[in-house]
Amino acid sequence: MQPRWRSASRIGGDALRRARQDGKKKKDNEGASYVRIAIIGGGIVGLTTALSLARVGFKPVVYEAVRNPTPLGVGINVLPHAVRELTELGLLEKLVGLGVAIEQLTYRMADGREVWTEPRGRAAGYEWPQVAVHRGHLQMLLLEEVRAVLGADSVRFGHALGAFRLHDKGASLDFIDRSTDAALASVEADVVIGADGIHSAVRKQLYPTEGIPKWSGVSLFRGTTVMPRDAVGPMMHWTGHSRQKFAGYPIAIDPQSGGVLFNWICDLRTAEPGSTPREDWNRRVDRAPLLPRYENWSWPSIDVQQMVSDSQEVFEFPMVDRDPLPRWTHGRVTLAGDAAHPMYPIGSNGATQGILDARAVAYYLATSATPEEALERYEADRREKTSRIVLTNRAHGPDKVLEIAAARAADPGTDLATVFPMAERAQIAQDYKVIAGFDPTLLSERASYTPN
Ligand SMILES: Cc1cc2nc3c(=O)[nH]c(=O)nc-3n(C[C@H](O)[C@H](O)[C@H](O)COP(=O)(O)OP(=O)(O)OC[C@H]3O[C@@H](n4cnc5c(N)ncnc54)[C@H](O)[C@@H]3O)c2cc1C
Repeated sequence: MQPRWRSASRIGGDALRRARQDGKKKKDNEGASYVRIAIIGGGIVGLTTALSLARVGFKPVVYEAVRNPTPLGVGINVLPHAVRELTELGLLEKLVGLGVAIEQLTYRMADGREVWTEPRGRAAGYEWPQVAVHRGHLQMLLLEEVRAVLGADSVRFGHALGAFRLHDKGASLDFIDRSTDAALASVEADVVIGADGIHSAVRKQLYPTEGIPKWSGVSLFRGTTVMPRDAVGPMMHWTGHSRQKFAGYPIAIDPQSGGVLFNWICDLRTAEPGSTPREDWNRRVDRAPLLPRYENWSWPSIDVQQMVSDSQEVFEFPMVDRDPLPRWTHGRVTLAGDAAHPMYPIGSNGATQGILDARAVAYYLATSATPEEALERYEADRREKTSRIVLTNRAHGPDKVLEIAAARAADPGTDLATVFPMAERAQIAQDYKVIAGFDPTLLSERASYTPN
């Protein structure tokens, strides 16, 4: 069915006004009056939502709190199920040009014993690659695309959502300019998608007593180091266990040296679970206290101490998430990405699941008779799946192989193959792929989020 409101939103201008008048005449109050889609947050998810909506004929507006867009953050992995979505948006070539196509993942114990190795991306038979990329560079790419497709005015920077008032046919949105605390003009929206991250103002208003994110007590120290291209290969390296881990992967070719920019994360338990975290994605910290903890953490291609020492800057961020929500959608307001389901960065699914939300919400808005029906279908598709991933990541996700290896074979003399059979390790890897939606066969069989 071609919804009336969708076709109205596609045409804009005079036709839109005619359609609006037409809509007013309709007894059922549906029609063309709910065409204004507001996306709160211009991160990876907000921008992918805008692009996905544009591709199916909508003209959404993105409201982003920061005044000036800058490529913040370090590395993220975009797994094949999200690369499929970016491919359907026509971005595959640009994405691959920006990052590194990952071909292998290896888990090791801290003493170097290999626990599990699997091929990744196309090397694992996927139709789509897995791409490791700088988070900020991907965000800038998406911003450029949104502006090209929807116009420069489609992303309003310096617009932080302060509060909203829900009503029958949408919401009134109050924005402030955080740099001056000045109130900006209120905006009426017929559909609101809260993609404003882990500290979502939309979520906070829907769940005012929820409080701050939950901290596992683990701090993530992150940085990037330029490495010779051959030293690390297109691989993800995961080592240690939940109290002390090292993870790393290349995210870009360094144009100056021709080497690779290697993204690394040192996880250290620094507090009891449930403590109050200090949070800021860009909190620079001193690397000196980190170094002694990683003495002797070195394998043929990687020396962790060296890598941390050679990194330009080190950032610290707490490993936080939030409990799954009983509902995302309230009236015509819903949530997506980290606003909906912030999860521990385990299993590389944070940005990936948000990209799937973006595509799904656009698909359902394009193929439903009313926004209410669309948001209901969107939530039915996405909420339980992502809640399960949040909870699975709390129980270590695919990194469970490291927990089991550490528990059963802490003594270097223990034969890992005896105490931790390979079939059990394979099952853990496979189960996670099914839960997170990237088993290669199931992924190829899944229906597309591009409407016919
Ligand atoms: C600055 C920054 C750096 C990051 N760095 C990394 C990293 O290095 N590695 C990693 O794995 N993940 C990182 N992340 C998180 C990662 O981007 C997300 O987990 C994932 O991409 C899902 O993205 P999202 O769009 O849902 O949320 P986010 O990426 O958090 O984007 C949310 C956006 O909403 C905006 N916003 C927040 N509040 C409001 C408001 N009230 N009104 C309007 N806009 C608002 C924010 O400024 C932000 O642009 C970072 C996030 C941020 C914001």
